[in-house]
Amino acid sequence: MNFLELKEKIIQIIFPTYCLSCQREGQILCDDCFSLLEINPWQYCPFCSNPQKVIDNGKCSRHQNFYLDGLFSAVAYQDQRIKKIIQAFKYGPYLKNLDTQLIKIIIAHFMLSENKILIHSQNQSCFISVPIFKSKMKKRGYNQSHLIANGLSQHFKIPLVEKALIRVKNTSSQVKLSRDERKINIKEAFSITNAEPIKNKTIFLVDDVFTTGATLEECAKTLKKTGAKKVYGIVVAREGLNQN
Ligand SMILES: [Zn+2]
Ligand SMILES: [Zn+2]
Repeated sequence: MNFLELKEKIIQIIFPTYCLSCQREGQILCDDCFSLLEINPWQYCPFCSNPQKVIDNGKCSRHQNFYLDGLFSAVAYQDQRIKKIIQAFKYGPYLKNLDTQLIKIIIAHFMLSENKILIHSQNQSCFISVPIFKSKMKKRGYNQSHLIANGLSQHFKIPLVEKALIRVKNTSSQVKLSRDERKINIKEAFSITNAEPIKNKTIFLVDDVFTTGATLEECAKTLKKTGAKKVYGIVVAREGLNQN
């Protein structure tokens, strides 16, 4: 056992971790609960409210004029295990180390779907996380999407571009808003501080949950107006996803 493993072991004894789903001691999401997750092996159009399966990393024919080029979502948000994890990560008790499990879930989705887009575009692409407003960052201490994007960047060996896309508007929570209200609420919420790393690149835009797509679409619009070639969303969970 090396020093780091020993340190980890001691921390485990003093502050044991419990599975958020089954309360068993050990990991934040134990292996059994992880294996019960229904990881999505397909890609769906981001803009169909009753999601349609799509091939070739894209959108259905009705939604071709949207800025976002496609979406990769690993699991359905209705899954109670996922909901618990994401809520603990996002709304408290702010368990920062939950990122490891969420990254694992996204990697599992790419393995299962046998999608090679991240490997094929390695030299022409980058990860960017959906930015949060300063006051939220201060309260939470971290941007959950940034932690996920960072892990994916290391795993897939694609650079993470930081602080190029920023949030300039402190939007009210989107949770209770309708599809149209979300669009208005998020309008012009983002801005680009540095266009250079974005130009002609394929951007993989990382967020935790996808609901109506208003946030990712607004980010994609901002990125494309500054010269991004393609913008794909990558999220842990999608609301309303029915994998049949
Ligand atoms: Zn468990
Ligand atoms: Zn569609």
